[in-house]
Amino acid sequence: MNLDYRKKQLDAIEQIDFDVVIVGGGISGAVVFHHLAQCGFRVLLLEKGDFAGGTSQSSAMMVWGNLTDLRQLSLLRVGRSCASRENLIRRKSDWVFPQKFRYLPVKNGRNAFSSYAAFYTYWILGAGRRSFPRYKKEFVESAFLKRENFPYSFEYEEACVEPSDARFVLGWILNQPNTFEQTALNYCQLSGGHYETSDKHWHLEINDSICQRELVIKAKCVVNTAGVWTDKLNQQFGINSPYKHVFGKGVFLGIKRPSNHQLTLMIETEDEEGCLALIPWREISLWGPTETHITNLDEGFAATPEDIRFLLNQINRHVSELISIKDIVSLRCGVRPLPIQGTFSDKNTFGVPRHYKAFADKQLPWISIYGGKITSSLLAAQKVESFLKDYKLLPSLSAIRFSPLDISQPELESFPNLTEKVPSVRWCAEKEMCWNLEDYLRRRTNISQWIPRGGLGLANENSSHLKEIAKIFCNNDESKVSASINDYQEKIKREFDDVLAQAA
Ligand SMILES: Cc1cc2nc3c(=O)[nH]c(=O)nc-3n(C[C@H](O)[C@H](O)[C@H](O)COP(=O)(O)OP(=O)(O)OC[C@H]3O[C@@H](n4cnc5c(N)ncnc54)[C@H](O)[C@@H]3O)c2cc1C
Repeated sequence: MNLDYRKKQLDAIEQIDFDVVIVGGGISGAVVFHHLAQCGFRVLLLEKGDFAGGTSQSSAMMVWGNLTDLRQLSLLRVGRSCASRENLIRRKSDWVFPQKFRYLPVKNGRNAFSSYAAFYTYWILGAGRRSFPRYKKEFVESAFLKRENFPYSFEYEEACVEPSDARFVLGWILNQPNTFEQTALNYCQLSGGHYETSDKHWHLEINDSICQRELVIKAKCVVNTAGVWTDKLNQQFGINSPYKHVFGKGVFLGIKRPSNHQLTLMIETEDEEGCLALIPWREISLWGPTETHITNLDEGFAATPEDIRFLLNQINRHVSELISIKDIVSLRCGVRPLPIQGTFSDKNTFGVPRHYKAFADKQLPWISIYGGKITSSLLAAQKVESFLKDYKLLPSLSAIRFSPLDISQPELESFPNLTEKVPSVRWCAEKEMCWNLEDYLRRRTNISQWIPRGGLGLANENSSHLKEIAKIFCNNDESKVSASINDYQEKIKREFDDVLAQAA
C-alpha cells in the first residue's frame, strides 16, 4: 500500500456514489464494514487515526458472556452475550480461541456451593457449549499467589482474541485491493458536511492526512461508530438520539509474567462487587482494569500515577513476592463508551449495563451505535443491516466484491529480546496500511506492549533497531527518520517514564 495507490483511492472515492459511509475504524466500525461489504453495499469506512487507534486497542481481549452481570440477575443479557461469544468463535475460528479461565473468590466471601450454582447457571446460559465448570482446590498459579487468600477456585471456559484486539480489528477491514467501491481508509477524518434533500445524499467533507488532501464524498446513509466520540459527531450533524455515552476509563499494567501463570485469573475484589483480571499474554501478564468515571475525554487516554498505585496495591495483596514499579513493562489505557438513556448521576460507572444500543434517526438516514464491544460486534452489524432495510436502502452491487485479505498468517521476522516472531515491517507497510513507527509497534505488532518502554528497551538499547524500522516508513529520508525517533522517544518519556516516576 503506497502513496500512489492511496492517491488513486482518493480520486476514485470522490466519484463513487456510496450506499453507506461508516465513521470510526474500531471494532464496531470494522465489523459493520465487513458485514455490509459482504452483503454487497458500496461502503466506505473512515478512521481519523490508525485502525483500532481508539478504545479497541486497550481491551482485555475477552469474548465473554459477561459473567459479572449474573450478580444483577440479568439472565437475558448474559444469555445474549454468551450467544454472541459462540457466534464469534464459529465465524472467526482463526482469531477467536476458547480459553480456560480461573475464578478466584475472596476468602470469607460467599460459600463454594453458591459460587458453583452461579457457574452452573452461566454454563447453562451458554447452552452448554463451553467446557463444564470445575471446582479446583489445587491449581498451578497458587505457586505465585498468597495461598491463604484463595481456599479454592473455579475453572470455566470463555474465549479470547489472538494475537491482539488491534489485529482482530484489522482482520475485518483489510481486503484485496481489487475494488474502490468497498474501501477502508485510516488517517482520514470526517470533518463536516450536510444532508442535501434535493438529491437525498449526504455530502461529506473528509480530510486525508496521508495525502494532505480535503475532499467531498457522497453517500446515502451514514453509520456513526465513533466510540466515545459518537455523541460529539451526532451533535455536529444535528442528530438527536435518546441515548448518549458516559465514559469509564480503564487501565491495565503490563507486568513481567510470573512463571506458572497459565490461565486468566479473575480475582474477586474485596467487596465481591467486581473482579480484577490477571491475563497471561505471551511475555507479560496484564493486570487490571481500573474503572474510573471521567467526564472530560481529554483526560481519559493516559494512565495516571494514581491508577498505577491502585493496581500495584491490589496485586500485592494477592502475590507472594512484591511487585514493584520496576516490574512494569507497559501501560494500557482506554475509555469505555457506555450507553445510557436519560441522565447519569452515579459516582461510578460499574452499574451501567454493557450491552450495545443502536439508534436510527427518523428524519435523516443516520445510524448510531452506542457501547460497541468486541463480543457484541456481530449483533450490532446485523442491526445496522436491518435499519438499512427500514430505510429501504438495498445493496447496490449485484456481485459481492469484498474479498478479505488473510492477515492471520503474515510474513514474520524477529525483534530483539522477543521469543515470538512478529509481522514483518515490510509486510505491514505493503499489505496492512501501516504508515508509521507507532502503528507498527503498537497495533500491527505487540512490541510496544511486550518490550519495556514502548519497545525501546530499558536503556534505549533498541533505538537503532527502531531507526531501521522508521527508515521504511520515511523512505530513507534521514531528517524524517530522526524526527520520527525523537517524537517516539518523547512520547514514551511523557506517557511511561514520567508517570512511573511520579507513581514511585
Ligand atoms: C480496559 C477495557 C477493557 C475492555 N475489555 C473488553 C473485553 O474484554 N471484551 C469486550 O468485548 N469489550 C471490552 N472492552 C470494551 C471495548 O473495548 C470497547 O467497547 C470497544 O473497543 C469500542 O469499540 P468502538 O469501535 O465502538 O470504539 P473505538 O475503538 O474507540 O473506535 C472509534 C473510532 O472512531 C474514530 N473516530 C472518531 N471520530 C471520527 C471522525 N470524525 N472521523 C473518523 N474517525 C473518527 C476514532 O479515532 C476511533 O478509532 C474493554 C474496554 C476497556 C476500556
